Amino acid sequence: MPKVKNWQIGREMEYPYEGQRPKRQWAIVFDLNKCIACQTCTLACKTTWTSGQGQEYMFWNNVETKPYGGYPLGWDVRILEKLGRQDWEKNAPLEGKTVFEAAAPTERALHFFPKDEDWMYPNNGEDDCAGRVEGGCHIKDLPHDRWFFYLPRTCAHCTYPACLAACPRKAIYKRAEDGIVLIDQSRCKGYGECVRACPYKKSMYNPATRVSEKCVGCYPAVEQGLQPMCVQNCIGKIRIMGFISPPWTARADNPVDYLVHKKGIALPYYPQLGLEPNIYYIPPVHAPREYLAQMFGPQADDAVKRYLELRQDPIAQGLLVLMGSTDCILHSFKVADGLASGYDEKGGEIVQVPVVEPLHARAAYDEKLATVRTNTP
Ligand code: SF4
Ligand code: SF4
Ligand code: SF4
Repeated sequence: MPKVKNWQIGREMEYPYEGQRPKRQWAIVFDLNKCIACQTCTLACKTTWTSGQGQEYMFWNNVETKPYGGYPLGWDVRILEKLGRQDWEKNAPLEGKTVFEAAAPTERALHFFPKDEDWMYPNNGEDDCAGRVEGGCHIKDLPHDRWFFYLPRTCAHCTYPACLAACPRKAIYKRAEDGIVLIDQSRCKGYGECVRACPYKKSMYNPATRVSEKCVGCYPAVEQGLQPMCVQNCIGKIRIMGFISPPWTARADNPVDYLVHKKGIALPYYPQLGLEPNIYYIPPVHAPREYLAQMFGPQADDAVKRYLELRQDPIAQGLLVLMGSTDCILHSFKVADGLASGYDEKGGEIVQVPVVEPLHARAAYDEKLATVRTNTP
């Protein structure tokens, strides 16, 4: 099997095809400290892309409550159990095997196939916190403190997609211009190998059309310089979509590169699976670090510590304020004199916002209007 370079696990790994990076790579960063599980992103995607027949249980974007939620049921626990123990020291290459390296000789990737009923409970486990019943938790006798967090998920438009590797029809391709992974609906015969192989379970089978479908990265919007619908409509302003560089060509003025490579506060999820997924998360600061290390790799502890120190960093603060401030894709950004600015591909300014919103305190009694007002601190 060819060897490819996977920077997320710090080493080369086996992959069924030769490595070929796109000219630029679609990516989303999510700040998990701000997600409120309003599911507006889920509905923005659903009403745009999956409101047709056979798509009733199809959520290309979903938001699940961790540790107990999962759509389809138990997707992460099941692949982690199959993979077994994975040793990985901080700042060192992954010692364990990826899903490609752990696969049987006749298979492309370690896999499992969810049953129909596994897709029927998209919000299973919502707001169930780990802990004790007397503390308000529904599930007892589990070895966690009381905590939960929300995990929004789209297809990760992986650099080394397992769906693409497993497709016997070569119906799945990765676009050279933006790294978006698509299923050619005219070539797909509905064998479901991509559904079986994607460890994130983001390729889905449509029983009405009898072909598989997945998140298309909102490529028509991206081609016009716009962020995807799930990003544009995010109520919590927790997301930013842009293009990520590999670490060896990262730019400090690229918003995604800055959060992932320069600042090191956004991490890929389950990087040990070996797909080099391109959705990145700022981990929630209140969740147990062991759990975060399992989900985001051994750098999770450092990422949380750096996030907690952002009060001393006006540049990072400015970038976090730029998240959700425009529908357009930001190719670069600058923070100066208390203002954060975002720019398009040609360097034209798209948006400018204050890093700290000015505070306006109004008189409790407005004599002109004879009105009593309440200020919310
Ligand atoms: S997340 Fe799954 S469906 Fe999306 S590109 Fe990666 S392997 Fe394919
Ligand atoms: S990028 Fe577009 S297609 Fe993909 S989950 Fe978001 S809204 Fe849906
Ligand atoms: S719209 Fe934003 S805040 Fe709401 S659930 Fe989705 S990611 Fe979270």
